[in-house]
Amino acid sequence: MGKNSRASVILFFIDGLGIGEPQPHNPLCLVENIEPLANFKDEKKQIIFDGILIPTDPRLEIEGRPQSASGQTTILTGINAPKFLGYHKQGFPNEKLRGIINENSVFRQLRNRNIEEIVFANAYTPQFFKETPRWKSATTCAVEAAGLQFRKLPDLFGRKALFHDFTNQILRERGFDAPLFSPTDAAKILADLSRNFRFTLYEHFITDKIGHDQDFERANIHLPPLAEFIRETLKLIDLENTTFILTSDHGNIEDLSVRNHTLNDVPTIIWGRKKDETAKQIKDLSDITPAILQLLTK
Ligand SMILES: [Zn+2]
Repeated sequence: MGKNSRASVILFFIDGLGIGEPQPHNPLCLVENIEPLANFKDEKKQIIFDGILIPTDPRLEIEGRPQSASGQTTILTGINAPKFLGYHKQGFPNEKLRGIINENSVFRQLRNRNIEEIVFANAYTPQFFKETPRWKSATTCAVEAAGLQFRKLPDLFGRKALFHDFTNQILRERGFDAPLFSPTDAAKILADLSRNFRFTLYEHFITDKIGHDQDFERANIHLPPLAEFIRETLKLIDLENTTFILTSDHGNIEDLSVRNHTLNDVPTIIWGRKKDETAKQIKDLSDITPAILQLLTK
């Protein structure tokens, strides 16, 4: 056991969250009580819980608007996927991206270094296993290829997993008898997972949907509890031994005047163990996986 055998990392992935201008079409500057999410261009400010904000490049030297499949593949592997493809790939990974993910996902790389205590906190419904979807997210591909267990609804009912909306509202609307989780409930679950696992990933993509729908009202309802979930998690985890990394694949929700993703930087925010040296390593999305590997193995 190395001296870092108790160190742990939480990667909190928020789809479609960029650093934009503080303008009327940016819900991050109008919705109240959403720290640490309200970050704007060219702004110097203190991040709660002494976090460090690193404006992070999702464009990755490739023309066009950053997209989810290639951005997420880059975050999850440390390989510049848009550069590998020559373009930004929307939606779900194609065969080429799946090839990169299969060999290089952060899960796979951790397992190769004998770190087995890895969890993807998001719960999948029975439907996913019944009719294996044709299109799978980068994260789903990474979990499968690394041979990790998917969390399922019994895990969620046992408070050992989270649905992607973290409140279970969506599950309830779909007819599942799931308990409604408060942001504090969700934070307790995520913090408990991170006590039991070296690497914990949670993925949240409603933010990207709100951006595409240009839905200010939904942003107003959705962002405060999401921010509260993050703050409560930061309160509950041991920041001496745990590094909490928040990041995104591309901007979107910070500019509701357009349906598309933006060209903005995304916020990577780092809290806790070795935050300063980790922050220095991060410039673009391909730096996230190497930083996680370094935190857990060096
Ligand atoms: Zn999108």
